[in-house]
Amino acid sequence: MADTSLDLALDAATLTARLVDFPSESGTEKPLADAIETALRALPHLTVDRYGNNVIARTDLGRAERVILAGHIDTVPIAGNVPSRLDEDGVLWGCGTCDMKSGVAVQLRIAATVPAPNRDLTFVFYDNEEVEAERNGLRHIAAARPEWLAGDFAILLEPSDGEVEGGCQGTLRMLLRTTGERAHSARSWMGSNAIHAAAPVLARLASYEARRPVIDGLEYHEGLNAVGVSGGVAGNVIPDECVVTVNFRYAPDRTEEEAIAHVHEVFADCGVEEFVVDDHSGGALPGLSHPAAAAFIEAVGGTPRPKFGWTDVSRFSALGVPAVNYGPGNPHLAHKRDERVETAKILAGEERLRKWLTV
Ligand SMILES: [Zn+2]
Repeated sequence: MADTSLDLALDAATLTARLVDFPSESGTEKPLADAIETALRALPHLTVDRYGNNVIARTDLGRAERVILAGHIDTVPIAGNVPSRLDEDGVLWGCGTCDMKSGVAVQLRIAATVPAPNRDLTFVFYDNEEVEAERNGLRHIAAARPEWLAGDFAILLEPSDGEVEGGCQGTLRMLLRTTGERAHSARSWMGSNAIHAAAPVLARLASYEARRPVIDGLEYHEGLNAVGVSGGVAGNVIPDECVVTVNFRYAPDRTEEEAIAHVHEVFADCGVEEFVVDDHSGGALPGLSHPAAAAFIEAVGGTPRPKFGWTDVSRFSALGVPAVNYGPGNPHLAHKRDERVETAKILAGEERLRKWLTV
């Protein structure tokens, strides 16, 4: 039988390789969650809880601040890239090296080697991040055990190339429906064309000037774009309906309600018959001015960058916990067949976190 133990005395790079060789595609995380739970339970300074295949460990030292270090333990489907391979340049190749077992290895190393941190720590290892949101382990914990996620500041060790990425933009998809009246196209003047009625919507989109607000020193960049158009009945019919699907990526200084209101406002005089919210995930404020976050940025150095895509940091934000991404992997290499990570970056990330938590 395969060895199912995790030795947290291994350095973070070797531990990453070990985690990659412990396959955990979404939905099959149980053996890895078991191994993480067993390894953490052996550490007397941690209290360990489990919810499904999510493992949560925490220190309880009565410190003034509590910091959460979170990471998902699942990977996308393996693409012939497991077991891992370390090349002569110190680059570790394999599924999950970048996204995000290198980050999980750093979490485990901090858990094992910093028994008396200067801030209380909560370690969250969760499942099903790489699949639909309904299955996301962090979402399940937030719904069932929100008190486990309480804290002053959260760090997700998702790949960010060793730079701090703050907050994330929200994403709203809305359907804008225009209507008309059907008629035979041979006598088009008897009807009214719903596709033509969408022209003001498209013109407004083409001339839309996106905001680039600066929040906590980070410049976000919004976008309002058509991502789909549907309409048409038959080749000889004047269409009575057209739907333009619009995606609004918005900076985290807007609430979800404000984002919806903005879309209504932009197209207020464009003849839209109906606005329907199709999908919506709010943004997350970077919270970089929070003392714990400011100290973190000071300790790890570099210039924080805004996060444009949507990530799980917004789940923390929704719970009132400012959150950033900070992980050793290069995000452009995530999910690729040639996924890889520089082992030096893993070790550097671990060292910077240790310094911040012990100085
Ligand atoms: Zn990830």
